[in-house]
Amino acid sequence: MGKKTTVSPMVKEALSNLFARPATSKYPFVKAEVPEGFRGKQVYDISLCISCGLCSRDCPAKAIEMVEVDAKRRPLFHLDLCIFCYQCAESCPRNAIKSSALFELASIDKSNLVVHPQASAQKGSGVQQ
Ligand code: SF4
Ligand code: SF4
Repeated sequence: MGKKTTVSPMVKEALSNLFARPATSKYPFVKAEVPEGFRGKQVYDISLCISCGLCSRDCPAKAIEMVEVDAKRRPLFHLDLCIFCYQCAESCPRNAIKSSALFELASIDKSNLVVHPQASAQKGSGVQQ
């Protein structure tokens, strides 16, 4: 009788992975898809805002500063402090803050991480890019 040969589990695993789909994605060469409800950069709609300041009051990271725009107090977002918890959107009684799929926010210049409400006023609504 011939000797029975066995394939080690490690070799089996290696062979199966040769034909499996890669576990990694090709980002940044291929645009990454984010799941529904993703909490990216805030989209602030100044036309809905009533200047109540609840977003700033409830922000746990103190990332929202109320600033004056056309004699009304509006939220300015400091994304370098933001933890993207979206309490601001929860607290807003007018739904003036929404999430977006924008997540490529890395910058070596902190001024790029300031989202000024004035930018929304100039564009009608939306977020400063
Ligand atoms: S997402 Fe959270 S941390 Fe960021 S501004 Fe809103 S409340 Fe503050
Ligand atoms: S909570 Fe909403 S309505 Fe109130 S200041 Fe903030 S964005 Fe404006």
